[in-house]
Amino acid sequence: MKLAELGEFGLIDRIKANVAASPSVLLGIGDDAAALVSTPGQVTLITSDMLLEGVHFDLSFCDPRTLGRKSLSVNLSDLAAMGARPRHFLLGVALPREIPLEFMDGFMAGMLEQAERFGATLVGGDTCASKGGVAISVTALGEQRPELVLKRSGARPGDLICVTGTVGDAAAGLNELMRGLREGFLASRQLDPTPRVEAGVALAEAGVASAMIDVSDGVLQDLGHICELSGVGARLELSRLPLSDEYRAACGADPYALALSGGEDYELLFCIPAAREAEVERICAGLDLRVSVIGEVTGGSAIELVAPGGTPYTAPRRGFDHFGSD
Ligand code: ADP
Ligand code: MG
Repeated sequence: MKLAELGEFGLIDRIKANVAASPSVLLGIGDDAAALVSTPGQVTLITSDMLLEGVHFDLSFCDPRTLGRKSLSVNLSDLAAMGARPRHFLLGVALPREIPLEFMDGFMAGMLEQAERFGATLVGGDTCASKGGVAISVTALGEQRPELVLKRSGARPGDLICVTGTVGDAAAGLNELMRGLREGFLASRQLDPTPRVEAGVALAEAGVASAMIDVSDGVLQDLGHICELSGVGARLELSRLPLSDEYRAACGADPYALALSGGEDYELLFCIPAAREAEVERICAGLDLRVSVIGEVTGGSAIELVAPGGTPYTAPRRGFDHFGSD
């Protein structure tokens, strides 16, 4: 069956039928706007991300269910980076009329399974026909106590720079996908990233981080945002970058280039006062999540890269920029 036979309202009903009720949703899908109950004492954090066919994904190598999961994950990662707990989300889709219904069924199954895993409820959206490819826009809402929200500003000279998980995998995975290698750890890190929601919330609630961001555009680019907004510089020790064995096997002669500039790992990059290091290790160990100190915040404004042995390193690329030339 084609989407055109079901129609816009048939599709919305089909989506709605699979959404579980939630006590915080007074009115969900079906009215002109949703009505949500906020948790007393908390502020709402709201974030939006678009995924475009041909720009962010290629339907020839991502199945609809995984794409559904990722479309929500990238938004949950932004909430995690603020230390917010996900609560609700909206889904805008533009779909070619001839797309099979199975595409949307698979996509929604993936999106709603990820939503359930992280405690977010779908409360509305918009649906239209596309004359080009598939376009997806998710807006996610989360909550946190205002004093615990983690911003990009707030890093201080002397703070340690930490990152969860491993970096460079998703970019190496994209290279493999483009070469036709459709399976394995690196490809799955590109197609199906895990938003570090529990870690983001736990770090915020422990009050240990001075600044936080998620790694969507590459360590260097995203650390650059923290530095700029905090008015600080940084020194990164490349020997301390957490690299997976799979990444090391795939990265070629220079292991640092892609680890620094590769986007879409959706790990958390954050700064902490040096005295809180053991506490951060405990929090992440409790979540079974690797965490590494990769450098230190400095007083200047530059990001200094130090290769093993102490020699300076110049990154061939900074990271992803939609309007950039890379
Ligand atoms: P309106 O024309 O008043 O904007 P719509 O017909 O676009 O209303 O939407 C009807 C209802 O379905 C609304 O509650 C809207 O939030 C919801 N909705 C539309 N598209 C989606 C979607 N892709 N996912 C979830 N809810 C949707
Ligand atoms: Mg509408």
